[in-house]
Amino acid sequence: MTGTPLYEGKAKILYATADPAVLLVQFKDSATAFNAQKKGEIPNKGRINCAIASTIFQYLAQQGIPSHFIRQVSSNQMLVKALQIIPLEVVVRNIAAGSLCQRLGIAIGTQLPQPLVEFFYKNDSLGDPLVTNAHIQLLRIATPEQLDQLVQLALKINSYLQTFFATAKLILVDFKLEFGTDASGNILVGDEISPDSCRLWDDRAGDLSDRIMDKDRFRQDLGKIAETYQAVADRIQAVGWQNVANGGY
Ligand code: 5GP
Repeated sequence: MTGTPLYEGKAKILYATADPAVLLVQFKDSATAFNAQKKGEIPNKGRINCAIASTIFQYLAQQGIPSHFIRQVSSNQMLVKALQIIPLEVVVRNIAAGSLCQRLGIAIGTQLPQPLVEFFYKNDSLGDPLVTNAHIQLLRIATPEQLDQLVQLALKINSYLQTFFATAKLILVDFKLEFGTDASGNILVGDEISPDSCRLWDDRAGDLSDRIMDKDRFRQDLGKIAETYQAVADRIQAVGWQNVANGGY
């Protein structure tokens, strides 16, 4: 089934299948940060993220959120619908962290009065810059109607994911989504949702560096990276996505 890769990214490899509308995604153990300036391997990350992303896509489907996910076919592979990718990273933030703090001087850990949606232009050579609606129109990345849909979908997903992670005693600080369109023009969630693309803080008192349960452990060399990813997977598994209460959006 896995012939020549169609595309190899930093964390995943994409293969064609016999059906042109279906692709096979293989999750890798490699990790990168800071626009690939920092590189490393996190043992078992491919398997762990594939399991977490599959679970989350199934949970979101139950809430009526469409994604490219079809089914998991091995420990580190899933079948997905082929999409026309919209070259935006859609970031939703509930608590200030990361680039928001660097850009605006807001203290890390500040609870935002309402979720904040930001767009970044997916372009490695430009370093994925923050873009406004006007930039998106200028670059013809998405129509105003599509952009409205992306914001509404991202906020809904945020609400559902906050509930989902809270059930696993994790605080959803922020996360990144990618979207694409299918042959009929429907917007679907693509890529993955995992500790590589979300900031997750353990829901307990204590030192923040001990509570970080996501890729910031890799970015900041905090250690226990694979163990922490596995702990997120175990907690999610223990809850079971079918048992998470409806997000009540
Ligand atoms: P920040 O803008 O603070 O660096 O990131 C905001 C959120 O989006 C974090 O949860 C971060 O993990 C996620 N994110 C931002 N850019 C990327 C990216 O290029 N790849 C992945 N996997 N996640 C990203």
